[in-house]
Amino acid sequence: MIEKPREQVLLDLLSTYLSNDHVSYIQEVYEFAKEAHKGQIRRSGRDYIMHPVEVAIILAEIQQDVSTIAAGLLHDTLEDTPVTKERISDVFGSDTASLVEGVTKLGKVYFGTNQEAQAENYRKLFLAMAEDLRVVIIKLADRLHNMRTLSFLSEEKQQRIARETLDIFAPLSLRLGMAHLRWELEDLSFSYLNPDAFQKIKTLVDAKRDDRESLVNSFTERVEELLKERNVSCRVSGRPKHFYSIHLKLLNNAVEFDELYDLLGIRVLVNSIPDCYEVLGYIHSQFKPISGRFKDYIALPKPNFYQSLHTTVIGLKGKPIEVQIRTEEMEQLAEYGIAAHWRYKGDDQKEDKFKVDFDWLRQILEFAKEDAEGYLENLKLDLFTDEVYVFTPKGDVHILEKGSTVLDFAFKVHTEVGLNCIGATVNGSIVPLSYTLDNGDRIFIRTGKESEPKVAWLSFAQSRHAKSKIKSWFRKQNNEENVQKGRVVIERTLAEYGVKLKAFETSDIFVEFLEKNNIKHLDECALMVAYGELSIQSIITQCQVSQKKDVTKNYREFLDKTSKKRRKDQMYSPVKVMGEEGVSTHLAKCCNPIPGDDIIGFITIGHGVSVHRVGCHNVTDLSETLYTRVVDVEWHDHMDLRSYPVCLHIEAFDRPELMSDIVKVILNSSHNLVEMTSQPLKGGQVIVKITIQLESLIYLTKVKSTIMDVRDVICVYRPKTG
Ligand code: MN
Repeated sequence: MIEKPREQVLLDLLSTYLSNDHVSYIQEVYEFAKEAHKGQIRRSGRDYIMHPVEVAIILAEIQQDVSTIAAGLLHDTLEDTPVTKERISDVFGSDTASLVEGVTKLGKVYFGTNQEAQAENYRKLFLAMAEDLRVVIIKLADRLHNMRTLSFLSEEKQQRIARETLDIFAPLSLRLGMAHLRWELEDLSFSYLNPDAFQKIKTLVDAKRDDRESLVNSFTERVEELLKERNVSCRVSGRPKHFYSIHLKLLNNAVEFDELYDLLGIRVLVNSIPDCYEVLGYIHSQFKPISGRFKDYIALPKPNFYQSLHTTVIGLKGKPIEVQIRTEEMEQLAEYGIAAHWRYKGDDQKEDKFKVDFDWLRQILEFAKEDAEGYLENLKLDLFTDEVYVFTPKGDVHILEKGSTVLDFAFKVHTEVGLNCIGATVNGSIVPLSYTLDNGDRIFIRTGKESEPKVAWLSFAQSRHAKSKIKSWFRKQNNEENVQKGRVVIERTLAEYGVKLKAFETSDIFVEFLEKNNIKHLDECALMVAYGELSIQSIITQCQVSQKKDVTKNYREFLDKTSKKRRKDQMYSPVKVMGEEGVSTHLAKCCNPIPGDDIIGFITIGHGVSVHRVGCHNVTDLSETLYTRVVDVEWHDHMDLRSYPVCLHIEAFDRPELMSDIVKVILNSSHNLVEMTSQPLKGGQVIVKITIQLESLIYLTKVKSTIMDVRDVICVYRPKTG
């Protein structure tokens, strides 16, 4: 007998569920594809067209719609033949054409890694790129046929493709509920990846096959009889065995082969859910159930919506046997999953069908919290709208928010990479850092050691992460205030020893000190002092500064002079001078100190002690002799409820409403806004100067951080003076 040609098998299959018109349409598609692949030969030695035909058969077996079958036949034409998408669209319509394009696009993704963590990302990338679920189904059918003919490829390719199938494609088919495809993909992969274990299990399964089959058969008969007596219509069948799942069970549970419960199993298919429970009752009444083996996936479906009752009972000859009970509909969903959902339903309401099924997949992914097989954990992400999946040059996948740019990617890879990046290449072409990422992009970031962030970056960095890193870099550049603070401490301390900073800075002993401590220059040294990384005392000691002058001498004279002037109303001064209360003081207008600030006092002639912030120019720039009039001051512990004016400078990218946004947050923080001016800077930036009334530094920190949260604000700081 002559075997039927495979294309005929396909057409016969299709005529069982498609209209005659559709079948002849597919026949045309077949002729077209055959012509396109003419002269091409598969590794197996057969004409290339046989591959798309087999793929279409796999799709027809699960009754996919006519466009999907057509796209299955055409799936390799864009890649391997001169046929264009436009041509397919002209001849066979845009639906088929875009499916073929989708499959071609996915075919270009190279799944290069073995890392488990990456595998999950690849699976998500795959789904996100597909855009149309039918593309995923075609790709899975394509992969299944390639796995069936894997033996014709080199061993190296066999290993790579089998690994990829087991890591990416089999779990994907599980996630889509397509158990039918999954088992075959797993067993085929398993046979290439671990041929010894595969053979061993195959031998074990084969060895007692006859025994088992007769056991299953007689058990099946008993159940059929039983249900017939009770008038339940049903279909009972034995269940096929999957070598890979047996392998995993042997590995995980460390049980003996003979102890595997589900080596023996039957499936009972009934018409309704009440029937399921009824059948369960009958079976439990006749055969002793094994405790802990009953699972009700009807009441509690698996995350991929699998539904069934599972139980294991002591069957004939004392052998445990697993029984699965479900409705015909549940069976369809269990075997074909999303493809069952996708089955040919006629041409009407195509649009709606798409929407429903996308929602369905999204639901699967969102509901998926845990799963016995462990593939579905922690998937909360809305794949199709929120994320973009891109590759490093090495092939690692990074997931970013949709709309992310190359710059966000750079910061995602590493903060240093972000801060030092100068350019990027995406899929081999040079792109600006503002380039918006697309699924599947392969990105190479160029960095330069000397390169620094640009303010303009903030306008196209999308992620919070990148933005905050850029902002904090700019804040750090604003260290001058702290440098000044440190300089004052050093300068003042030196003055106490009668040493001038200018002379000290260039002295051999200080230069040596810097070298020894690996400090670049005085400013860095000052910064370290301000941050408390270096104590002023250790500078003094290491640089052998000696002969301290009596600083307090001036102060005592001052106190003697002013003691008579002390008045009652000055008892409430917020500042203590050298630990004493009630000394006449005033807060300097040049730097507006507020409670909480680091402050120093300066003995004025005739106006008491003026209190400045550490770092104020008016104190920093004092000549050496005046330094001896500097005194220690501190804030009072118990503060009154007075508020003090504070000036803040805000650097930002100018935009409409920037000012009103800033005003809003200040008013919301319920502080008084006294003054506000703005002045444009270079590069579209603006500096906004505000004065607000505050009680203490604690409030200032809060206000600063709320202003920082205003969009497009780069930094907020108090000017050193004014
Ligand atoms: Mn193919």
